[in-house]
Amino acid sequence: MIVVLKKNPEKKQMQNLISWVENLGLKVHLSEGTNSTIVGLVGDTSKVDIELVRTLDIVESVTRVQEPYKNANRKFHPQDTVVDVSGHKFGGVNFQIIAGPCSVESEKQLIGIAEAVKKAGATLLRGGAFKPRTSPYSFQGMGVDGLKLLKKAKAETGMPIVSEIMSEEHIDDFEDVDVLQVGARNMQNFDLLKKLGKLKKPILLKRGIAATIEEWLMSAEYIMSEGNPNVILCERGIRTYETYTRNTLDLSAIPVLKERTHLPVIVDPSHALGISRFVKPMSLAAVGAGADGLIIEVHNDPTHALCDGAQSLRPEQFEDVVKSVERMLPVVGKELG
Ligand code: PEP
Ligand code: MN
Repeated sequence: MIVVLKKNPEKKQMQNLISWVENLGLKVHLSEGTNSTIVGLVGDTSKVDIELVRTLDIVESVTRVQEPYKNANRKFHPQDTVVDVSGHKFGGVNFQIIAGPCSVESEKQLIGIAEAVKKAGATLLRGGAFKPRTSPYSFQGMGVDGLKLLKKAKAETGMPIVSEIMSEEHIDDFEDVDVLQVGARNMQNFDLLKKLGKLKKPILLKRGIAATIEEWLMSAEYIMSEGNPNVILCERGIRTYETYTRNTLDLSAIPVLKERTHLPVIVDPSHALGISRFVKPMSLAAVGAGADGLIIEVHNDPTHALCDGAQSLRPEQFEDVVKSVERMLPVVGKELG
């Protein structure tokens, strides 16, 4: 339920309203903009007498929210949410490019790639230490040692780091990781989502392999309802009947999400198509569709990569993508950095 207050509501009356609904067992989500104040009510709102609320002096209007996601709903928070990662902002007029290898393989590999992507214009470094592989016989990642190398790369380049967390057991190991990625396969690992909701760290929530937009937003809701508002959504392609690409990049999800949620949305063209030569056109298409950023796999030697070589760009190819993206950003009113 959304209660829109009149301009400059009397603080005491506003506090009375909030205490009253909290006593009914509901959670309150307050959004104070320059022109209006919105009190979002989350929980079993059947207990709230909507007519009574309408009669209050400070209340402009009251509406029920049909969608099952509340905290993530744009109706609760009309302005774009901006998630700040050490000064790099996701959302609003800001655009970020996260780049790096699918998986951390060695110090030489990671530091070399980190320096190259930074020089090319990347703003954050990615690297998987715990890898969700389809086969248990494939390389599973370097684990905690991989996180240590990421930390080293962060110290050497100054770039914040993004890495996938697969289990709540590892939360303490991720202390120095700036953005915790929840991979497609874990989008509905509700216990993990709830635990991440107790942190304040930004969470990069990838879309599940066959998830609807609503299911995806409900996963964001799991994190937000526990108190962590710092969620960045990532469209990474969904499974369809198409076989010429690894997945099908659902770019239509971007404008749909922009209407439905205030959360930032980025695109992963590497996992979406699975083929390096298609990363550039789809990166540009993502910018055109209104994305707030990109996450791109880059490897110094893609043919020998331990994971996802076919979709990884070499640093000079990545640099070319960044240059084109930068040329396009003014058209959509965004800025890299
Ligand atoms: C990844 O980012 O390396 C990854 C495994 O992504 P996804 O969960 O989208 O498959
Ligand atoms: Mn990968």
